[in-house]
Amino acid sequence: MNNKILVTGGAGYIGSHICKALSNRGFLPVTYDNLSKGHEWAVKWGPLITGDLHDTEKLCDAILTHQPKAVMHFAASIEVGESVEDPSAYYYNNVAGSLNLVRCMITTGCLNIVFSSTAATYGVPETRLISENHPQMPINPYGMSKLMVERIITDCNEPNGIRHMFLRYFNACGADFENEIGEAHTPESHLIPIVMQAAGGQREKLFIFGDDYDTPDGTCLRDYIHVEDLASAHILALESLLAGAPSNAYNLGTGTGYSVQEIILAAENVTGRAIQRDVHSRRAGDPPILVASSAKARQELGWKPTKSLDEILASAWKWHCKQNNI
Ligand code: UDP
Repeated sequence: MNNKILVTGGAGYIGSHICKALSNRGFLPVTYDNLSKGHEWAVKWGPLITGDLHDTEKLCDAILTHQPKAVMHFAASIEVGESVEDPSAYYYNNVAGSLNLVRCMITTGCLNIVFSSTAATYGVPETRLISENHPQMPINPYGMSKLMVERIITDCNEPNGIRHMFLRYFNACGADFENEIGEAHTPESHLIPIVMQAAGGQREKLFIFGDDYDTPDGTCLRDYIHVEDLASAHILALESLLAGAPSNAYNLGTGTGYSVQEIILAAENVTGRAIQRDVHSRRAGDPPILVASSAKARQELGWKPTKSLDEILASAWKWHCKQNNI
């Protein structure tokens, strides 16, 4: 029986963790990645096709050759700040690339997609916890590009038979507990790996982007979710889709927000090292608070995030030490 899943962006941070989870669950992940940000060393659980989402021939050929049961779509540009500076690159990579993928899926008859979406599609929250029916009004091109892809896929449900699961992540972080894979972006822009660099001495200090937000300590609150918890939700969503569940969207977060200051303090505690920091001006495109209600995923998918902030930071630190020979 064919148990293949095409994983675009499978050489990247989240994609590679999902490939490992797929493999543990008896699927064969076939990675399709242009390696612009991903790493060949992260593709360990199935074949790698080095290709770009814009390469229609290669992409359709990958689907025709492997006949995957579904596509899990991670390949994208993912940095809020960069998207504000270079929006057209984000619309080209994320929207045009995904549109090409959807068109290849339609022409080849591979109609199931699990799409890596984001809390950034919601914009500034109107409620303390964000649920799936919160208005989607992104405040940066990254969030807008992901929302546009959600719309494209949804529009293709009826006429083309595409079926989807949208998984809207809050802040993915941490590393594989077996320390085989982890976050490795160059340059790094995400808070937790930057905190690790400052703890490990690979960076003199970190900058806190704004301490004048309307939050308890003035720094932004985010909902940090371990990448292995994300992976378990992906497996549940995929299996539900393959079992015939209707198209749906789920938030993936823990429901708890931590401020930038709290993350730094917790990281000092977990690593046992002092972390130098300075306050910088706000980063464009940052909402003050993003915290998920993941009640729907818990109820409908039976998902439960299990990793604590300390486990997130400890796994990130262990991975950082391995990468940097600490
Ligand atoms: N942040 C920060 N300094 C950094 C990187 C991030 O203060 O060097 C803040 C950022 O402004 C946001 C939070 O940390 O409030 C999480 O940012 P990250 O880029 O990790 O994820 P995002 O929320 O943008 O998806």
